[in-house]
Amino acid sequence: MSTQDHVSDYRDYLERFSIDEVIARLDDHRDGKANAFESCCGRHLRAGRGEVLALVQEDTQGNVNTLTYAELEAESARLAGWLAERGLGVGDRIACMLPRSPQLLVAILATWRIGAVYQPLFTAFGPDAVDYRLGRADTKLVITDHANRFKFDGLSQCPPVLAVGGPSADHAEDLDWADALAHTPIEATPPRLGRDAPFLQMFTSGTVGKPKGVAVPLAAMPAFALYMELAVDLRDSDRFWNMADPGWAYGLYYAITGPLLLGVTTHFCEAGFSAEGALAFMKRHRITNFAAAPTAYRLMKASGLFDDAHQTLELRAASSAGEPLNTEVVTWVERSLGCPVMDHYGQTETGMTCNNHHALDHPKHVGAMGVPMPGYRLVILDAEYNELPPGQPGVLAVDIKNSPAHFFAGYTWQEKHPFAEGYYLTGDVVIRNEDGTFQFAGRDDDIITTAGYRVGPTDVENSVMTHAAVAESAAVGQPDEIRGEIIKSYVVLREGFEASDELADEIRQQVRERLSTHAFPRVIEFVDELPKTPSGKIQRFKLRADAVDKTEAPTQ
Ligand code: ATP
Ligand code: MG
Repeated sequence: MSTQDHVSDYRDYLERFSIDEVIARLDDHRDGKANAFESCCGRHLRAGRGEVLALVQEDTQGNVNTLTYAELEAESARLAGWLAERGLGVGDRIACMLPRSPQLLVAILATWRIGAVYQPLFTAFGPDAVDYRLGRADTKLVITDHANRFKFDGLSQCPPVLAVGGPSADHAEDLDWADALAHTPIEATPPRLGRDAPFLQMFTSGTVGKPKGVAVPLAAMPAFALYMELAVDLRDSDRFWNMADPGWAYGLYYAITGPLLLGVTTHFCEAGFSAEGALAFMKRHRITNFAAAPTAYRLMKASGLFDDAHQTLELRAASSAGEPLNTEVVTWVERSLGCPVMDHYGQTETGMTCNNHHALDHPKHVGAMGVPMPGYRLVILDAEYNELPPGQPGVLAVDIKNSPAHFFAGYTWQEKHPFAEGYYLTGDVVIRNEDGTFQFAGRDDDIITTAGYRVGPTDVENSVMTHAAVAESAAVGQPDEIRGEIIKSYVVLREGFEASDELADEIRQQVRERLSTHAFPRVIEFVDELPKTPSGKIQRFKLRADAVDKTEAPTQ
């Protein structure tokens, strides 16, 4: 079947769209109640799909481990029995710091099975990041392994630890995963909870400040399933690999929860990111449907290893989310990986809301983040919360009462919530094009005002990236007496290129010609790397502070 056969017309789809129909398909969500384990595993067994693989994992030694839905059900039932016996249950936060492993999946499903809330802990976190999250969430149990155990030493408060691989010599007090997995399976049916009950305890990425707590309710599941079907076009026949880390929203929502909701197979590569490793993994597992954050695509491109990859890969569809997907990368993926890549926009708070949908036919422009996902009415607002017409930049917002798929109800442990006059405010500046597609300009704080123009860093960065010497770049405003701000670009060069005034001038001129005479970087600084969050997002506010410091320096 060709890709085209799967594509529905966006307008037709919107006309037929009913959230109740989506909810009915996730059959456990009847009567306004649900259980995440039932939706992601139990119901597939009842539908006779127990032998389908839920997971194919490759460990760091190159061994391939698998779990069918039936095996996942059986193992999580034993762990759930053990958890319940320890008195854990509805609403309790259970955190894991585990590599991408079968044990991670079993732990998540067992947590959901007893109505508890799964809390991810990114494996690259140090003790401070862990302390903050465990303290905030009042986490009742941590599941980790020997490699990560030391990150829980010296915390202000540490819950009991269940150790995969058994207690290590210096932590004899820990509980043993093998004992827990030997427990008799739980008998109680999974508690069905109201759709506003949480099943995931997230924290935002902390790109512009302290991470904010987000408790994701069961009502998110229909939106997650829709995203997998429409934007990722995930099919039963796919070999799907979302390489995003399940310690963050993109990985946990759409490498684990989404595929399991659809009852298909997801792939884990335990080893950390390398371009070489990614290429080998895609070949070995004959991946057909791939997803990754823009930073991974940029590194793959800069490695030069993928240039002929389309000859050996079997990719049908690729997706990206989390940051703007540079236009240069879009054309590179199509040429080198041999399949279209679609940019998807979302937040930890809302999940994906605006996408270039692989399975829907609507205008798709390189550089635009697509159209609202069915179930959402997205609008652009001015500072007084008036809806703006196409062509005018403003804050992207969700019109809550006309968005039946919307589920975010506010942060946990925080006083201020981003709602106003019936809208959820994303804090991102976006422009709607005449054809209904949305164009990301930048985060509200990252917009540069130069000589009276408001310039989004994304356009400047895309343009800088078209220069062959550039691997990555970030644009910020630098204070300027005459223009208010001037644009400064920080540039990381590809291997083999040397920083020089001539090269800076060449890049500057290129952007000036291609983009505009007002939105080009008057200042270019070459750097070895850009400041990023642990999940790989560029932190422009740090560069902005650097630009301010360097501007002020000469007058001191
Ligand atoms: P924090 O809120 O803690 O500062 P964060 O906003 O980076 O961190 P996430 O929820 O992981 O935390 O990221 C959501 C943000 O990522 C969006 O608000 C937007 O700024 C950016 N983003 C996500 N997808 C895209 C995309 N496709 N194009 C452009 N930006 C995107
Ligand atoms: Mg945010």
